[in-house]
Amino acid sequence: MPMFAGMAGIYIHIPFCRKACYYCNFHFSTSFKTKEGMIQAMVRELEMQTGYLEGQEIETIYFGGGTPSALPVEDIRLLLDSIRRLYPVSHAPEITLEANPDDIIADNLAWWKADGINRLSIGIQAFQDTLLTAWNRSHDAGQALKAIGLAQEAGFDNITADLIYGGPGLSDEDWILNIQRLIDSGIPHISSYALTVESGTALFHQIEKGKSTSPDDDQANRQYAILQEMLAANGFLQYEVSNFAKEGFESRHNRSYWSGAHYLGIGPSSHSFNGISRQWNVANNVRYIQSIADGVIPSEREELTEAQRYNELVMTGLRTSRGIDMQRVHALGEEYLEYLEANVIEHVNNGQVVKNELGNWVLKPEYLFFADGIAADLFYEDESAT
Ligand code: SF4
Repeated sequence: MPMFAGMAGIYIHIPFCRKACYYCNFHFSTSFKTKEGMIQAMVRELEMQTGYLEGQEIETIYFGGGTPSALPVEDIRLLLDSIRRLYPVSHAPEITLEANPDDIIADNLAWWKADGINRLSIGIQAFQDTLLTAWNRSHDAGQALKAIGLAQEAGFDNITADLIYGGPGLSDEDWILNIQRLIDSGIPHISSYALTVESGTALFHQIEKGKSTSPDDDQANRQYAILQEMLAANGFLQYEVSNFAKEGFESRHNRSYWSGAHYLGIGPSSHSFNGISRQWNVANNVRYIQSIADGVIPSEREELTEAQRYNELVMTGLRTSRGIDMQRVHALGEEYLEYLEANVIEHVNNGQVVKNELGNWVLKPEYLFFADGIAADLFYEDESAT
């Protein structure tokens, strides 16, 4: 198996949330009954998977979910200590913790900092109580307003916050206010996502029953353009469709995903990638814990075909400011390079795609909103997979 010379990462999925946000389709449970067994199982999975990354140095550790900040600090510490005990962690890793505003209190912040967490991802989403209530978020606008200041006072400078746009009830005036609040807070990174309706979510059923309206594409498109314009004017570089950072504050963890680095996912529903195959754990807390107790990692695995790897390069490339990595396309084979050049020309001619200083095809910022659709036009039909 070829070794990837770059950095490797570990993702820990914490599958618990205090409340179920109506739009969310991540894996989580609002019952913490299995929490003790879950932490033990995760430590055990870390022990079972020590060979997966073949000794590569761990440059990034990411606690996502779910709501990692809802765990007692001792649990986060145990997981971090286990990683440090079992894996070669680099001397200056990026360690991110996703935190909801209602967990951002001085005691937690001090413990997280002492444990080596050096990046906080705060799920603010909006500063309007009407929206936070409509989405069933666990925090209110007051907590959202305080969270960033408290984190900064505790000594965190690498902070990102999430905002949602495009949802029913979010006026352009409020949207501008929300962006401006984050700009004024001085944080160096912002992630923003359109409200989407995934089947099976509470929002999906509310819309089916006529209790809520569908997000409006024109509103989403317009609010995304406002976001790009305001952040560009305030020194944020857009390095991916949904991610904006001041120079030097791009998420190393995200970057490594997009550059093909290997990563190990721990916990239910987490994904892992070793350059050849992808695997994902069962998205069920009880079955995950039981299977690990039986000594079996409950995962499915898929070997990626060349065409799938090419399609991923195109998809992630067009979503990022780095563009489609032509060296990696070339490494897959001459036929992929020729295929890409033949198919991209239509999008070059209509002004959507240009070549950047790296020699990579990249989308102009005003077309990033449509990145997935344009990427699909360039996909290679994988006949062997049908
Ligand atoms: S806190 Fe995050 S993971 Fe949990 S339900 Fe809400 S959006 Fe989903």
